[in-house]
Amino acid sequence: MKFELSRLTDYSSEAIISELQRVAAIVQAAYLSKALFDEHSRVHSATVVRRFHGWENALTQAGLSQRIQPVNITEKMRNQLGKGFSEPDLILELQRVSALVGVGGLKTQDFNEHSSIDAAIVRRRFGSWNKGLKAAGLAVPARARRYTDEDCFENILNLWMHFGRSPHFREMDVPPSTVGGTAYVKRWGTFNKALLAFIAQTDADIESSVSVPLVEAGSMPPRAEVGVVLRVKRDVPLGVRFTVLKRDRYKCVLCGASPTTDVTCNLHVDHIVSLAQGGGNEITNLRTLCDSCNLGKGARSE
Ligand SMILES: [Zn+2]
Repeated sequence: MKFELSRLTDYSSEAIISELQRVAAIVQAAYLSKALFDEHSRVHSATVVRRFHGWENALTQAGLSQRIQPVNITEKMRNQLGKGFSEPDLILELQRVSALVGVGGLKTQDFNEHSSIDAAIVRRRFGSWNKGLKAAGLAVPARARRYTDEDCFENILNLWMHFGRSPHFREMDVPPSTVGGTAYVKRWGTFNKALLAFIAQTDADIESSVSVPLVEAGSMPPRAEVGVVLRVKRDVPLGVRFTVLKRDRYKCVLCGASPTTDVTCNLHVDHIVSLAQGGGNEITNLRTLCDSCNLGKGARSE
């Protein structure tokens, strides 16, 4: 016991108890959680827990047993609990959970998962969830931005190129990804289904690039022929680009540069014979080039 104490800070147990009481008086929330305590306290809750062998024990010894949070809290209790939070308390709680969850643009589901109070309280108190986030100086979720299927697939393609393999779900929420994992789950049910949809799109692109003649730039194809894949512009369809990148092993065919080994490397799918010179979007006329090789080539033949 003595040995354990020596590793702790030099606060006496009496000092810790009075600190608990001091913070309990400041925090307006019905229950004094470790997180709320840490926002205001000069001693860390972990120290308190170690000293008193549990948070509940510490609160009891400080005469604060009525501030112990029940273990299984229902929705109703969460609402009740939230009512005890002042606006500054709510702001601190938003900031705490946001820091915990990590990704910018805290969502209500994430908040509810990590907080003892309900997001509905924040909404009610600040007028809206986003207003609550703004009051806490936090980024608002990019929910207003609706990703198209194309955005989602382009992002997968980019990550596939970046890693040289299919991206993992957890990689969707961190750079270089620009579309978060939840966007995929919302649209396709699971991330795996999104990957399958991406592959299906790839196959469809390949098929149409073979069977549908290239439409001249500027002219509109008949409505019925406009599949999800056919583009009027010069853009090489996603699936065709993907196939070319895969064939070239995500490396520049001229210098061998690859994003999998060099983060500054960007790959492009390049027309060997340019469209202006009569080249098409078939795979045999396409190749993978890095930025610098692409620029060098562009100067020469276009
Ligand atoms: Zn190169």
